[in-house]
Amino acid sequence: RAKKAGGNRVEPFRPAFRASGTDRLQLETDLKRAIERKELSLVYQPIVRLVDAEIAGFEALMRWEHPKRGSISPSEFIPIAESSDLINQLGMFAFEQATSDLTEWQIQTGELPIFVSVNLSSAQLLNNDLYDDIRAVLNKNHCDPHKVKVELTESVVMENPEQARLVLEKLKDAGLKLALDDFGTGHSSLAYLTRFPFDTIKIDKSLVRDPSDKRSILLRSVITMARELEMQVVAEGIESEEDAIQLAQMGCDFGQSFLFGPPIGSESIQRLLKERFPLMKRA
Ligand code: C2E
Ligand code: MG
Ligand code: MG
Ligand code: MG
Repeated sequence: RAKKAGGNRVEPFRPAFRASGTDRLQLETDLKRAIERKELSLVYQPIVRLVDAEIAGFEALMRWEHPKRGSISPSEFIPIAESSDLINQLGMFAFEQATSDLTEWQIQTGELPIFVSVNLSSAQLLNNDLYDDIRAVLNKNHCDPHKVKVELTESVVMENPEQARLVLEKLKDAGLKLALDDFGTGHSSLAYLTRFPFDTIKIDKSLVRDPSDKRSILLRSVITMARELEMQVVAEGIESEEDAIQLAQMGCDFGQSFLFGPPIGSESIQRLLKERFPLMKRA
């Protein structure tokens, strides 16, 4: 390596271990132990109502603090987990932690009208125990299923559409909300919007930030379509207040981006909620 990374930058090392098969294998081995070693955690990013900037819910995002490599991005380790059985464990860890944190926030701050949104991987939908496991965790954590959303990407639904539809219908019947994540990337098929019982579309940041002067035509069309299908719309990665206002005028319900707040830990969320909803605070 010609140049050594300065300061605490870790990026320059990533291409190296992404390219190497043995390193990936090592990472997979490390990931297997990560849960019991408490290296995995969740952070939560606010999802904000655009009309009044009020918090509507939070998306749970996984973090891995590797003892030697430092923090590794989920874009790096989730695909590794997905290529093995590990994703089922990781996915349930996230679901369990997120629903337990939601219940804790509710106890601490009163019955707030907020939801928690958890990402679900394709491989998890193929796991026959998924539905029962989710129901069991909701019960154990005394969590109202109506306050829980799962986020799926289009590829999830593509891989095994029939199995996916059955599981999603069951989750929906149990009261959970379903969001189609990263809409506008990859293999978008509009037919999925009617074939699967989604409540919410999350427009990917690449579309929200499309530099072309035709961006507003695309965004307005997606938002109009979603509303006519009676789905709610979240715009991801909104960069400016101006864009937020424009999206609100187009009828976009929610925004989720660094503009409204980065992902933060559960205790910080609790403090945030107590600040934001003081009237609902319990004595
Ligand atoms: P995602 O589900 O689309 O999550 C949104 C990602 O966008 C998060 O990245 C979030 O930190 C990032 N983001 C939010 N606002 C902004 C912004 O204004 N600018 C930019 N540049 N980025 C923003 P993160 O946390 O690195 O997660 C990346 C992806 O990893 C997620 O994309 C999701 O696909 C996956 N992921 C994360 N946690 C989990 C998990 O628990 N389970 C599964 N299956 N996948 C997960
Ligand atoms: Mg997501
Ligand atoms: Mg997304
Ligand atoms: Mg994504």
